Amino acid sequence: MRILGEIRTVVTRPWTIMEVCGGQTHSLVKNGILELLPQEVTMVHGPGCPVCVTPLDLIDKAVYLSEECGVILCSYGDMLRVPGSEKSLLEAKAGGADVRILYSPLEAVKLARLNPEREVVFFAVGFETTAPANALSVVQAHRLGVTNYSLLVSHVLVPPAMAAVMEDEHSRIHAFLAAGHVCTIMGISEYQLLVDRYQIPIVVTGFEPVDLLHGILMTITQLENDECRLENQYSRVVRTEGNPQAISVIHEVFRVDDRDWRGIGTIPFSGYELREEFADFDAEVKFQISIPKTEENQACIAGQILKGIKKPNECPQFGSCCTPENPLGAPMVSSEGACAAYFHYSERDMVS
Ligand code: SF4
Repeated sequence: MRILGEIRTVVTRPWTIMEVCGGQTHSLVKNGILELLPQEVTMVHGPGCPVCVTPLDLIDKAVYLSEECGVILCSYGDMLRVPGSEKSLLEAKAGGADVRILYSPLEAVKLARLNPEREVVFFAVGFETTAPANALSVVQAHRLGVTNYSLLVSHVLVPPAMAAVMEDEHSRIHAFLAAGHVCTIMGISEYQLLVDRYQIPIVVTGFEPVDLLHGILMTITQLENDECRLENQYSRVVRTEGNPQAISVIHEVFRVDDRDWRGIGTIPFSGYELREEFADFDAEVKFQISIPKTEENQACIAGQILKGIKKPNECPQFGSCCTPENPLGAPMVSSEGACAAYFHYSERDMVS
């Protein structure tokens, strides 16, 4: 409450701040922080929900692998409910496909060793945070001579997405709260480039309500003083250089390439692909999957939500045609999706 009082004291003008990470969105909405902030402060919700930005055709590929190729398809639980163009992985599982929820790709390598007659594919979804474990699983499989293990890679990177948000002509963002856990892995130097290029304050922030309020206070203080700097609110966890071992294993296994983001489109150099020397562990190469790209549901404005141009309750489908039980788009499916968070918790923005 002290920090909230300081925010109210410092703020004099309207500011729009984007928290990048879906976990931060969830924490802001669930803990009622949106309702507590002064009216001058508008929080918009960024593209940092990995499930939300995974393209439809990759979900279709995962379904195809599980149904048509007879693989053991493993992924994190959130991915199972996300609808593909025809069905979700959960529906494929209900229809008899061998789809399993795992908490780590290293479990999938173990599964591959226990089932040498089966192919095991791990649907490697996530930001920089999950990349080290996924990379490590490939290194381990390679070292152990496990040849029936591969990744279906859907790795996306935060800084290029922030740049894409800023490049959008409809962008109205004055500052960012950057995702603390991503910076725990990658460090913070990439964000200085964004500060310099867009002259915008960025504060690396944690996830607890007090972290978020502190990050918002630091951001608004900069804005009110006409400053733009990179600051680290989450210094108890995030070091400037990140985690060198994690970065090293990522670079050993992955290279940076263009990536499609669901609802946003292709963002240059915004994701990881397996390096050529690890092509044997690339499910797309191994199974030569060819799935036609499918159109998103035209009624879903997820792209505008993920870029902070609109809020979930500004979508005409919100709460009527689109609910967590009957989602039209991924932001209503994932527990980190902004639309689902608003549906479950928000009050101020529900009535605005
Ligand atoms: S409320 Fe539903 S239809 Fe609207 S943007 Fe969110 S997921 Fe898409």
